[in-house]
Order: sequence, then structure tokens, then C-alpha cells
Amino acid sequence: MASLKTFARNAFLRKSASALRGCSGLPKDPSSVRALSSLASLPETHEMIRKTCRDFANNELIPIAGKLDKECKFPKEQVKKLGELGMLCMDVPEEDGGTGLDYFAYALAMEEISRGCASTGCIMSVNNSLYLGPVQKYATEAQKEKFVKPFLNGDRVGCFALSEPGNGSDAGAASCTAKLDGDSWVLNGTKAWITNGYEAEATVVFATTDRSQKHKGISAFLVPIPTEGLSRGKKEDKLGIKATSTCYLIFEDCRIPKDNMLGEPGFGFKIAMQTLDAGRIGIAGQGLGIAQASLECAIDYAFKRQSFGMPIAKMQLTQSKLADMELRLQSARLLTWQAAMLKDAGKPYTKEAAMAKLAASETATFNAHQAIQILGGMGFVTDMPAERYYRDARITEIYEGTSDIQRLVIAGNLLKEYS
Ligand SMILES: Cc1cc2nc3c(=O)[nH]c(=O)nc-3n(C[C@H](O)[C@H](O)[C@H](O)COP(=O)(O)OP(=O)(O)OC[C@H]3O[C@@H](n4cnc5c(N)ncnc54)[C@H](O)[C@@H]3O)c2cc1C
Repeated sequence: MASLKTFARNAFLRKSASALRGCSGLPKDPSSVRALSSLASLPETHEMIRKTCRDFANNELIPIAGKLDKECKFPKEQVKKLGELGMLCMDVPEEDGGTGLDYFAYALAMEEISRGCASTGCIMSVNNSLYLGPVQKYATEAQKEKFVKPFLNGDRVGCFALSEPGNGSDAGAASCTAKLDGDSWVLNGTKAWITNGYEAEATVVFATTDRSQKHKGISAFLVPIPTEGLSRGKKEDKLGIKATSTCYLIFEDCRIPKDNMLGEPGFGFKIAMQTLDAGRIGIAGQGLGIAQASLECAIDYAFKRQSFGMPIAKMQLTQSKLADMELRLQSARLLTWQAAMLKDAGKPYTKEAAMAKLAASETATFNAHQAIQILGGMGFVTDMPAERYYRDARITEIYEGTSDIQRLVIAGNLLKEYS
């Protein structure tokens, strides 16, 4: 399978992209060149990415996703293959060794990979948007050598440590501390719920250097793993995305070089919020993937299952469920593409990313719920994937900001627009 880098570097595409932006084939201003309403077909590069990721999901993920879930097993081999395809560093510029694509491509890839395995989608999103996103944007050249380059090809993954046992939604209330001592920062405190916590070989961690300044006293730091003074808590036993590891990261007089601050002092909260804005587009993609998989599973079963002498697909109450599933899925997909396109065009997208994440995550839960209903008893057992989709869907409504927080973000931005 050719890598996404090959696609991005394809000479023909470069030539034909002269009217488009960068190497991605995406118009600079989507509204002027390709309006959302005219997206009857994807640009060529994006269609190839979608197809590559769909083939990967069909061949490499769907056959093993149930087993990974049951065994709570990190898909190391598949992550390595994703890295080789360039899918773990999709928007890192080519000059920094990344794939050099855009967020529209990333959203498409997240949907297709998560359609195959939502755990793998989660691992991919953490490395792409939560770890490499802020690191490649704010790192110095020296930091990039250590914290970007080794994390591009699937050999290593990173993680993002913002949440704490005492504050998740209220991330500005960080209680982890960082104190300067000679040439070192000394970190103390506990970070909670850290995805990839057991496999990650580096983390971006947020800690306060000046509690009196509240969120303006928070800074971001780069910590290699292992580092003395940093330990992991137990692996959380979760409802869904069971093939990912989630754990506490515990910092006890953990000493890192002074140069490991990421960005400016006191800029940490801003880095975290910017990271989550972008990350939400990826989680929206993950929600779409679960919602699409649920719909496909329900349709397949509805054609095959006979009741009262006919396939249940012929019954109008089944059709009504399928129609609602498709409607919500298509609506959420358009919101997701819109958010990605706004980001790629350099326009504000905070509200749209929150809308995309909210719509796609609630659609994932809705579609998985309906799929179980259409499958009847077979929806409730692990022989069929519908119950896994239902369990996996729930996390998309919680991490990177709960649905309540998305509604606050949407309303806050909306009121600003009208004031
Ligand atoms: C599997 C998993 C993986 C995760 N991965 C990561 C990771 O890699 N890195 C990381 O930093 N974090 C991670 N998280 C943490 C996740 O982002 C938080 O769980 C989430 O932000 C919610 O925070 P909380 O759990 O503290 O809930 P709380 O903030 O305590 O919220 C509890 C409830 O109160 C509601 N609520 C809170 N404030 C308001 C408000 N102002 N208005 C209305 N309702 C409100 C919430 O919506 C929620 O329903 C992960 C969590 C899980 C479960």
C-alpha cells in the first residue's frame, strides 16, 4: 500500500494543485472554490486518502477489532503500519518530516480508521492532534529533534496530560506545579485519564508556575518517558475503546531540563485550548466512523433477517430508524468537514469544531443504539460488533470536552457574534 506521503508528493497532484492550496488539493477559501454544497465528490488527494484508510480499516482493523477489544490489547503492529503510511503525523509539515496534509484529510482519515476500530482511531488522534499538534507548532528546532522526529512513523507515540483527578472540564484549575530549580524544572502532581499512558515515550504536560495567576500561570512542558520521578498509575478498566491504555501520570519531584518548556511561560492554557479546538475535529471524525459502522451493520442485518415472512429491511419502522441514522450521520459529516475546511483556510473555527464534535458524538451514540435495536438479541451479544460500537461511542461525548462543554463553547461564541 503506498504511503500518504507518496500521495502528497505525487508530481501530478502537485501540478494540478497549482490553483489549490499547498500539497493537499484543498482550496484556500472553500467557499470561493468548492462550496460545501458542491462536495458531490472529494478532491482527488482526499479521495485517495479516504480510500487508502478505508482499505486499511477493511483489511487490517475490522478483522481484529473485536479481539483487541476483548483482550484490551494495544494494536502495536497496526499502529506501526499506520505510522509507515504517514497517518500518525498527517498535518506535520513535510519539512519537519511529516505527511504535510491538511485537517480535512485528517478528518476523513479519522472517520475511516475509526469505522474499522475506534480504539485505533483514538490512538491515532492522540498522536496527531493532542501530542504532535502542539509540539510541532510551539517546539524550538532543538525540541523538534527530540520530541517530533521520533514520533512520526509509528515507532513511538506521545500523549497529552491536561486533566487531573480534581479537574477535567475546569482545566484552568490545574494543581500540578512546576518550580524552577537551577537548570531544571521540578514537576509535582498527578494527571488523570491519560490516553496512550502505558505506551507513550513522551508527554506534553500542563503545570502551574504561578497559582496566583490562575489559568495564566499555567505553562506547557515536554517530558520524555521514562524520566525519574514520573510513574504510571494502574490501567483504567473502561467501558469502551478498550484497546487503548488510560492511566494516571504521577509526577514526584520529576526533574526535566529548563529548556523543556514548550512555548512561552504562562502560555500553557492557551496551547491546551488551541490543541483541543483542533482535536475536536478528529474526535468528530471518530464519532462519524462509529456512526457509519453502526449504520452499515444495521443495514446488513436488516437485509438478512427475516421476520413475519419478510426481511426486516422491508418494514417501515426499520426504515424509519435507518433514515434517522443516515440523516444524522450526513448532517454531522457536513459539520465536521466545514470545521476542518475553516481551520485549513486559517479562519476561526472554535464554534464549528465544537458543533462538529457535539453532533458527531451524539450521532455515534444514537446510531449505535439504533443498530442494537435493529439487531434485536444479536445486538446485545459480542458475536456482532454493534454492542462494541455502543460502548465505544460513549467516550466521544466525554473526552476533549463533554457535550455540556461543547454547548457552552457554541453558545459563548454565538453570543459573541451577536453582541
Ligand atoms: C477514556 C478517557 C480518555 C481520556 N484521555 C485524556 C487524555 O489523553 N488527556 C487528558 O488530559 N484528559 C483525558 N481524558 C479526560 C477527559 O477529557 C475528561 O474526563 C473530560 O474533560 C471531563 O472531565 P471530568 O471527567 O473531570 O468531568 P467533570 O469536569 O467533573 O464533569 C462532570 C459532569 O459535569 C458536567 N459539567 C462540568 N462543568 C460544567 C459546566 N460548566 N456546565 C455544565 N456542565 C458541566 C460535565 O459535562 C459532566 O457531565 C480522558 C477521559 C477518558 C474517560
